[in-house]
Amino acid sequence: MQAIQAMDNSKDLVLTTELPSFLVADLLKCPTLPTLPAVAVNVLKIARTEHPSVNDYANAIERDPALTMRIITLANSAFFSRSHIKVHACQEATARLGLDTTLAAVMSFSLLQNRGIDVHYQRVWMRSIIASLAARHLAIHLCPDMAGPVFTAALLQDIGVMALRATYPKESNNLYTEIALSHRQLSESEQRLFGCDHSQVGAWLAAKWGVPTPLAQRICDSHGEYDITSPDMLSIQLSGPIADAWLSPHPAQLLVAVVREFEAYQGSQAISLRHLLENIQEQLPALADMLQMTAPSLQDNESLLAEAQQLLFQQTLQLKARLDTNQAELASLRQQQVELEERSRTDMLTGLANRSWLEEQMHKRFALCQEQARIMSVVFIDLDHFKKLNDKYGHQMGDHVLQKFGKTLQSLIREGDLAGRWGGEEFLVVLPDEDAQAAQVFAKRIAQRLENTPMAHDDQDPIHVSVSIGIACLGDGGFGSADELIDAADKSMYFIKHTGRGGIAVYGERGAAVTPIND
Ligand code: GH3
Ligand code: MG
Ligand code: MG
Repeated sequence: MQAIQAMDNSKDLVLTTELPSFLVADLLKCPTLPTLPAVAVNVLKIARTEHPSVNDYANAIERDPALTMRIITLANSAFFSRSHIKVHACQEATARLGLDTTLAAVMSFSLLQNRGIDVHYQRVWMRSIIASLAARHLAIHLCPDMAGPVFTAALLQDIGVMALRATYPKESNNLYTEIALSHRQLSESEQRLFGCDHSQVGAWLAAKWGVPTPLAQRICDSHGEYDITSPDMLSIQLSGPIADAWLSPHPAQLLVAVVREFEAYQGSQAISLRHLLENIQEQLPALADMLQMTAPSLQDNESLLAEAQQLLFQQTLQLKARLDTNQAELASLRQQQVELEERSRTDMLTGLANRSWLEEQMHKRFALCQEQARIMSVVFIDLDHFKKLNDKYGHQMGDHVLQKFGKTLQSLIREGDLAGRWGGEEFLVVLPDEDAQAAQVFAKRIAQRLENTPMAHDDQDPIHVSVSIGIACLGDGGFGSADELIDAADKSMYFIKHTGRGGIAVYGERGAAVTPIND
């Protein structure tokens, strides 16, 4: 690979892109590689000096009377002349055009003058001319100071096609005459054939002629990925697709795509499609005329804009439809999440909270009570002689009893309380902000209910169960953790187990005896 070398010794010499070495060798061997007439070479020399002036430019241009006439005509065209005051001298014309535009004009005139323009060159140049107008329009909005250099680079962005056509006439014949190829497809085909596309070859050619390095670099990057960090480069890069759209049979669709892409990057600085089109429409005939080409007339601006408007509207709708689908998917995902969470905290047999959820909630509630100096009570319930029940009626009946007891427990708690299955035939109820006395009242209600209501039937025979209940209240002892509180309730429950079952006991002061409740 050989780096593109600019002949400009005063500025950076090497461009960022490299051409395949075979290609450079072929280009250098090509006898018909586009060259510039002496006058253009001189103007380029001046462009490379540290402080090029309007006078220096004009002096160089005036050596070619035909070129001088064209530059003056260009300066007087509607594109550059807002006033009706005509300029007559090359110096005035150069001043009005600005150095960048003068350079672009000199080079374009020279390149087009040199060769008979066939229909394919005509197409490529027309694209460049339209692109240069689009780029200038964008730059005036995005980076006004750079409008001149942007215009020049956009106008020269496709000069590489000239070099490739001259060097590879056979391959080019197929490539560049294929009208159906979009510009992007053309670049892709060039990549396959030559290992790079015409923007890189164009930069190489420009560097060989000795254009200032920044200009060669802009030509090189003109067809690349949109560079959103540099508004001048972005203006050049967008200009090609805009020109393609202009020249296509379906300008609205392509223009809308470009505008959308632009908005995605520069949403805050939306460009008006109308102003862009009007601007190109207005300037194109003069500039094309100057380069002795016939500008293609665009279909009626208003109907094009209306079509573009409809397409933009339709796209917004499609976007909304996509958004709605996304939202539906999101809602279903959230629902699944809710169900999953619910399942992860529920005991499958009884539908009450499971042990891990109980523990988690206990820890949270305990911390809250400590923080806010509040109390809570824990009620530990164990079904009596459950093993016997299983043995007598079968495991299924045992399950049924557990389910029924779960429902009973759930029906007895109040909002804000939490009832869960601790494991096997053990249940735990958390009563926030309740003291031991209130917990006892609740425990008695359970016992009462179990006395009155059978938990199952064996044939017609009611099956009653009794429970042993232990209570611990946070306010009554120096409990250091939720586990200690649960442990205390468990101990109280065991006290009942050891003293005959079917009763309630409350954990007393730390170290104090468990108090059985007998009534
Ligand atoms: P105690 O009055 O001392 O509590 O006696 P117990 O038989 O109720 O207690 P023990 O801890 O000796 O036995 C618990 C029984 O509960 C044994 C076990 O098979 C039964 N069990 C635990 N989980 C389930 C369940 O999910 N379904 C059924 N049917 N039985 C269960
Ligand atoms: Mg047990
Ligand atoms: Mg038991």
